[in-house]
Amino acid sequence: MGKTLLQVENLRTYFHTFRGVVKAVDGISFSLDEGQVLGIVGESGSGKSVTSFSVLKLVESPGVVESDHIYFQGEDIGAKSEKEMMKIRGKDISMVFQDPMTSLNPLYTIEKQITEMLDLHQRGMTKKQKRERCVELLRMVGIPNPESRLKSYPHQFSGGMRQRVIIAIALAADPKLIIADEPTTALDVTIQAQILKLMERLVREQDASLILITHDLAVVSQMADRILVMYCGKIVESGSRDDIIHRSAHPYTAGLLRSIPRMGEEQRRLDSIPGMVPSMLDLPQGCCFAPRCKYCRELCRVKMPEDHQTAEGHTVCCHYPLVGGEAE
Ligand code: ADP
Ligand code: MG
Repeated sequence: MGKTLLQVENLRTYFHTFRGVVKAVDGISFSLDEGQVLGIVGESGSGKSVTSFSVLKLVESPGVVESDHIYFQGEDIGAKSEKEMMKIRGKDISMVFQDPMTSLNPLYTIEKQITEMLDLHQRGMTKKQKRERCVELLRMVGIPNPESRLKSYPHQFSGGMRQRVIIAIALAADPKLIIADEPTTALDVTIQAQILKLMERLVREQDASLILITHDLAVVSQMADRILVMYCGKIVESGSRDDIIHRSAHPYTAGLLRSIPRMGEEQRRLDSIPGMVPSMLDLPQGCCFAPRCKYCRELCRVKMPEDHQTAEGHTVCCHYPLVGGEAE
């Protein structure tokens, strides 16, 4: 087991809107070891992006972030000022977002955008060293003829190539942690697979850790060491990849699994989870998933469930966890 890199304790991010309080992230705790890939999965609106923004202190008004602690490399970054966070963002922790077009500045060359990152976080490099580093980074992410692409602008790259550039920028300052929020959602399926493989390889080679956020359980099932399943701002299940994929105990996780095709399996019908994610302004009194859960019983409608540990490192928040994929 590696050393703990990030430990988030009781993170709560509430948006105080004129229609009421949106508890986008409501008391979640998790940790990530050095060198690990942590997947965060859940349908749209479950609080995945707000979780990552909260860790980086990027949530803006009317959002209010509170936590007991957010330890990063042993330091409580939950208590850090904006000035201190600016040194951490991009350098120790960098982010890759969904849309490569909005993350890149259309007016600057690729070289300028990578160099900006180097100037911010790796001062003291000569012009020549910076250019060499740019070429090295572009080569690492698989851009052909990197020397000749330095002066290109973002629109001269395809979507997949742009996402490679974003990854190069994210790696520029040798971060310890990369947070990738739906990094491949805007890309074609074949390109998605290439980019994911690339990210996994780079993260493992650079000895960095990765938080991979996606609505697609198939994506995290390929490369995450541990997986958190989020629903309505809470972690409903967490465990190793095998716990989540082969021993899922929460009916929501089981529902997500039934909706993805699996290799080597006889053809079968893919089921989507019936119903919709409830409004965050009007959450059910008991378990948030109860209205959509085929195993729902009376208790589920009235009482919020608590976390149960089903095995070492495998936790589920459900009154009646599944065993072997079925209700007891
Ligand atoms: P996900 O990334 O899982 O799709 P998000 O983390 O973006 O979900 O959002 C979680 C919830 O927080 C959603 O219900 C969303 O509407 C709400 N939310 C996010 N940002 C704001 C904001 N600035 N003001 C009010 N509500 C917000
Ligand atoms: Mg999101």
